[in-house]
Amino acid sequence: MHDDRTLVEARLRRVLDERIRPAVYPEAVPLDVAVWHAPGEPVPVAEGLAAAPEPIAAGTAWGAPWGTSWFTVTGTVPREWTGRTVEALLDLGFDESVPGFQSEGLVYRPDGSPVKGLNPRNHWVRVGSPVDGGEQVRLHIEAASNPVILGHPRFQPTQLGDKETAGDDPLYTLGRMDLAVFDETVWHLVMDLEVAGELMAELPVESARRWELLRAVDRALDAVDLQDVNGTAEAARARLAEVLSAPAVPSAHRISAVGHAHIDSAWLWPLRETVRKVARTAANMTALLEDDPDFVFAMSQAQQWAWIKEHRPEVWARVIKAVATGRFVPAGGMWVESDTNMPGSEAMARQFVHGKRFFIDEFGVDNEEVWLPDTFGFAAGLPQIIKAAGSKRLLTQKISWSQTNTFPHHTFLWEGIDGTRIFTHFPPVDTYNCSMSGRELAHAARNFKDKGVARHSLAPTGWGDGGGGTTREMVAKAARVRDLEGSATVTWETPADFFAKAEAEYANPPVWAGELYLELHRATLTSQAKTKQGNRRSEMLLREAELWAATAAVRAGAAYPYEQLDRIWKTVLLHQFHDILPGSSIAWVHREARKTYEAVARELNALIDAAQRALAGEASGGTLLFNSAPHTRHGVRAGGAGRPGPGVATRAMAREEGGYVLENDLLRVEIDDRGLVVSAYDRSAGRETVAPGRAANLLQLHPDFPNKWDAWDVDEFYRNTVTDLVGRDELSLDGETVRVRRSFGGSQVTQLLTLAGGRLDIVTEVDWHETEKFLKLAFPLDVHADRYASESQFGHNFRPTHTNTSWEAAKFEACNHRFVHVEEPGWGVALVNDSTYGHDVTRTVGEGGTTTTVRVSLLRAPRFPDPETDQGVHTFRHALVPGAAIGDAVREGWFVNLPERRVPGGAEVEPLVAVDDDAVVVTAVKLADDESGDVVVRFHESRGGRARATLTAAFPFADVVATDLLERPLSGEPRRDGNAVSLSLRPFELVTLRFSRSAG
Ligand SMILES: [Zn+2]
Repeated sequence: MHDDRTLVEARLRRVLDERIRPAVYPEAVPLDVAVWHAPGEPVPVAEGLAAAPEPIAAGTAWGAPWGTSWFTVTGTVPREWTGRTVEALLDLGFDESVPGFQSEGLVYRPDGSPVKGLNPRNHWVRVGSPVDGGEQVRLHIEAASNPVILGHPRFQPTQLGDKETAGDDPLYTLGRMDLAVFDETVWHLVMDLEVAGELMAELPVESARRWELLRAVDRALDAVDLQDVNGTAEAARARLAEVLSAPAVPSAHRISAVGHAHIDSAWLWPLRETVRKVARTAANMTALLEDDPDFVFAMSQAQQWAWIKEHRPEVWARVIKAVATGRFVPAGGMWVESDTNMPGSEAMARQFVHGKRFFIDEFGVDNEEVWLPDTFGFAAGLPQIIKAAGSKRLLTQKISWSQTNTFPHHTFLWEGIDGTRIFTHFPPVDTYNCSMSGRELAHAARNFKDKGVARHSLAPTGWGDGGGGTTREMVAKAARVRDLEGSATVTWETPADFFAKAEAEYANPPVWAGELYLELHRATLTSQAKTKQGNRRSEMLLREAELWAATAAVRAGAAYPYEQLDRIWKTVLLHQFHDILPGSSIAWVHREARKTYEAVARELNALIDAAQRALAGEASGGTLLFNSAPHTRHGVRAGGAGRPGPGVATRAMAREEGGYVLENDLLRVEIDDRGLVVSAYDRSAGRETVAPGRAANLLQLHPDFPNKWDAWDVDEFYRNTVTDLVGRDELSLDGETVRVRRSFGGSQVTQLLTLAGGRLDIVTEVDWHETEKFLKLAFPLDVHADRYASESQFGHNFRPTHTNTSWEAAKFEACNHRFVHVEEPGWGVALVNDSTYGHDVTRTVGEGGTTTTVRVSLLRAPRFPDPETDQGVHTFRHALVPGAAIGDAVREGWFVNLPERRVPGGAEVEPLVAVDDDAVVVTAVKLADDESGDVVVRFHESRGGRARATLTAAFPFADVVATDLLERPLSGEPRRDGNAVSLSLRPFELVTLRFSRSAG
């Protein structure tokens, strides 16, 4: 037979595009449209409905950036349409080539009840089926003229990312606003042809099935009268029925489709817009659930549910009803889909506490799945936290974005630093916006790396970020591929149902140990420094506030600020969202974040101050040091307050060759004439810290213009060019502080170097006015190390210092929390920070042997999406700790991050709890969230070894139980002896104890 395949395929494309799709709406009449532009920020629904609109015609420009316009559309269904299905087509000026990221609307009835959202690929509203004819139609649309930030060409600097700089030029042109007859048969024919055509294109040209589909398509097109598509669609469908009913082969890949709309809690729009994005999408999805009995939709991020509840009660009512059907599913169990690299131990834990608790309280749903499709890499501390929250499964697809290496599994056990293993699935469809296309389904089946031993994968299906979620077209396609020869099978399912099947079929999944490092978006560890600093400060202040408020409640009967702490925690957790903390949002988001963090700090400082004053007693001329750290500080016990002991005296003097020397009994530091640290001598060990012939505290400036994703990415070639900033404007000694001032480009740096016991503290103030540059602070260390440790949640993980394989080479920029630590047996060095996360560690082989260079990442200056990223003044604090063992790194990490608060007072404060082993670190002391007055203490083994310790509670208690993160009792009694609990901890083990207080 002659090969006419490409001819038929081209025929299908043209007839579908030019004749069949246009026939879905064969008749239309225009609606009357009027509009009222809200003067500023969005207004309440009632106000929008009551406003007096002015007429506007299709083709008119509307919509200043970030504006809100209320459209009213009115019309009458023509009498001659009686008995037919009629829809309103409401085109706000959509660009259908992109599913979201532009103008959107939510349609209301005149009584204020929501109908559904309007999105670029979903802008129909059902008027009636069948209609009587003559019905009056009146609908209101709350339309948001959100600008397209990620335009074409992409990653171009734009002023549209903040309402303050975006201007008022209208962005959209009002499109077709019609009443139209909807021909469901033609629509079904479109679905049939798309499914057959897309499946066909994925099959091997040699396969008989491909040709069967081709012939059936050819015959169906023969049956279409191009001048009467509506009259012949039924006949065309009949010719496809046989090929579309052939069942799948037994070995077909099985896809669990989960209706989904990945909505970033803020990104290329401000937080307030997400509230509306979520409402529009939820309105769409509740409507679709009513239309289709098989469809299942899952929505993650408790915060987004809470927004609907608070701001859109009319949508919330529909959500509650839909959840009761079991098909609108709360997914995951976190407050937001947060970053997981940077949040500290407690904050990461609280993401689960607040996320899971919301779903439990509202719906009685306690999920065991963690839903993080889009997060930029996963810290190795996370598995233990997931387990401690009572969950056991994880889903993400982001690692498929890695640029260098292909991850070897799609379903596997992920093992964290403590050995906890979590059943993990990476959807092989490689997207969280699956549209049920034949290409996606075939890709999932082909790509699935666990073929032969497993058969199930998950496909998050629907448009996110203003796309409105799953569409009726996706549902129609899913129905056709439920059991279809040549295709993967598709079933709508909840995440839990998918995981149950995946676990059941895979008895011995492979194991991946350690972090799930994303080989992309590495600059998110540095961009928007103030957002990162705000996060770190807030985490530390929350620790202090809980500790002192709990102590004041127990010791002084003060009221515990439950509501305030709950609210502040949720604010901080929200800002850990995977485009806020990583610094990848527009200027508006980060401008608001800076203000929010300032307010959080004010409020928490006031709480801390009030609690400490309640504890300090009469000011009898004395001063108390409140030690919030988990280790004794200046002689004051952890979690207590007392009179500080004497510090270590520093001597400062001029250095013979120029520069200065700072020394005490522990350290001798030489700062040369350039202001660089050329020696840091550990007196007790008799060892030099700085690599021979090198200098530490060296600022290095690199050009930094990644190939794309400016705020997200730093590409490895940035290293090829570097300027050492060694010129100085000033080098001076002020008391025991050496001050260095430098200028470069449009920027200035001032550094203050001091000794603090065994630490060299360096405060770096940068007035940053660079463009597309990367600023690093380098410490070449005389340490021969194959690997280094960096702090993560509830412990640390190791990374190699070499680049033997592509996996190691790809980690050229990585995340640490408060410290990086390198060591030779018996002697090590820690580099500690108060607010930076990005760093790199490399090895050098020179005349003096192998040395290790640790560089911290201070600042970047990308121009997209915030054209002014990081411009202005920043202050960072770092400390070099020569001779540090890992335990010293842990301790100094806490010290540098927690202020020494001195309060006038006479009464020493006994800590609520004391632990007799410094390896055991208490991360939280608080009162129980259920307001019972119980004291909750969380701690972990911090050095990666075994710990036997005794935890003593210095308050009367009736009972003590071990709990999960949500403070729910676990089985197994802690070993109690009087007021003490005996502990035996495995490496990095995390434990939460709950003490029910007694009168004593
Ligand atoms: Zn995202």
